[in-house]
Amino acid sequence: MSTLLEVSGVSVTFDGFRAINNLSFQIGAAEMRAIIGPNGAGKTTFMDIVTGKTRPDEGRVIWGERSDNLLKMSESQIARAGVGRKFQRPTVFEDQSVRENLAMALRNDRQPWKVLFYRKTDEGAARIEALAKQIGLSSELTRKAGELSHGQKQWLEIGMLLAQDPRLLLVDEPAAGMTPAERDHTTEILKEAAKTRAVVVVEHDMDFVEKLNCKVTVLHEGSVLAEGSLAHVTSNKNVIDVYLGR
Ligand code: ADP
Repeated sequence: MSTLLEVSGVSVTFDGFRAINNLSFQIGAAEMRAIIGPNGAGKTTFMDIVTGKTRPDEGRVIWGERSDNLLKMSESQIARAGVGRKFQRPTVFEDQSVRENLAMALRNDRQPWKVLFYRKTDEGAARIEALAKQIGLSSELTRKAGELSHGQKQWLEIGMLLAQDPRLLLVDEPAAGMTPAERDHTTEILKEAAKTRAVVVVEHDMDFVEKLNCKVTVLHEGSVLAEGSLAHVTSNKNVIDVYLGR
């Protein structure tokens, strides 16, 4: 599997405090990865670095097959290069229908010429239907987003991000506040998405991580403490000590 993102020796200091400390790891071009770790481990700061919001003091972040230096790219350049981020709370346009929300996301496509294309053909409508199907909202296309359940709003926002066809989707605790059935559906959406792109899920809920059935990176004090299957990392003595606070 080719590498999409390579973080190498990255450190971030806030007011003398090392939030990220010599962090190194890689994400493949089409893989699902869960990032776990106790509060303060550096998970949010990692996502802030990859989206360009926070700039490290040291290290390299290399992106894509041309090995671009992500640290030289602006936040908007990074977004255009294909990094999409989903924050914990769903942010959809509540007064607009599901269809309109997806249509707006499509119009923000990274390839502007497509905007013209959509007006002239019905490919836009076909893509909206395909996206709605992918997120399980085909029967809700005419409903206002504000009327959707919490879980459905989360799926709609994932659909809006997928409309931009990101190469890397960063997702922060997607299953928080969901029912078990909604969580299962979220797992399916993310697994499907990860067939054609990298999906990185920051998560606290180990049952959800288990369902994702993917490689896990454990962060602690801004570094990688362990990496591998969930069974592998949760049997690691250092990980057990950190989680039990020893
Ligand atoms: P996590 O998401 O794993 O809980 P964070 O990345 O939010 O961890 O934070 C890592 C550490 O950096 C924490 O100790 C946090 O208090 C600190 N931190 C994060 N952002 C800032 C900031 N802007 N200023 C000062 N300290 C920060």
